[in-house]
Amino acid sequence: MTRSTQSRGDCVYCGREMTRGGLARHLQTCAKRQEAQVEANKTRRRSQALYHLQVQNAYDGYYWLHLEMRGEATLQDLDHYLREIWLECCGHLSAFTIGDVRYTQVFDDGMAWGEEREMNAKVDALFTPGLEIPYEYDFGTTTDLVIKVVAQREGRPTTSHPIVLMARNKFEPPACIACGKPATQLCSECMYREDGRCEFCDDDAIEHEHGEMMMPIVNSPRVGQCGYVGPAESPY
Ligand SMILES: [Zn+2]
Ligand SMILES: [Zn+2]
Ligand SMILES: [Zn+2]
Ligand SMILES: [Zn+2]
Repeated sequence: MTRSTQSRGDCVYCGREMTRGGLARHLQTCAKRQEAQVEANKTRRRSQALYHLQVQNAYDGYYWLHLEMRGEATLQDLDHYLREIWLECCGHLSAFTIGDVRYTQVFDDGMAWGEEREMNAKVDALFTPGLEIPYEYDFGTTTDLVIKVVAQREGRPTTSHPIVLMARNKFEPPACIACGKPATQLCSECMYREDGRCEFCDDDAIEHEHGEMMMPIVNSPRVGQCGYVGPAESPY
């Protein structure tokens, strides 16, 4: 699909709408977020390092998430979260690359180029502000993401989950190429046409010559790849 505009999203704490970069800065000073942190510090949750992560699709950054992640959580928790909100189609392998090490499900079979490790590593031993981590889901039809560690703070987590969604891009569906209404499906055959025109509303999808090749359009960078059908919702 083709995109012209930069996507925007809402801060979950105060509701302000901003770009990805605007939110990266805003979340550091959002008064409502700071109130949530004060409340969290009254709980009995264990104080630890907490990381602000910005995740985006490597291709054009239209799809993005701002997350807060507990330092005691593992790369596996982050992998699980990304699969749920954006990626999972048929249980493909995935990998984070940090320095020279790949953290993945299947590791050293002697065929790897570099070092491979399991994903059960706690992130506070790995993450530091400024770090950029390439992530791949599915080594065949790959969805490439980049995870940036934006900031680190010390405190009690604001929820009982390992990861908190602080903002994500709002999704504006492309226009149906036949009638101009918001598209709900794309043709995985026409997707590879030179002009990339492949988006349809439900009515025009039925009329289209490759009706059996339609896939749902949802708020995820994996739309149109392999058997991905969404729902592109946060697991918690
Ligand atoms: Zn805010
Ligand atoms: Zn698949
Ligand atoms: Zn239409
Ligand atoms: Zn088609």
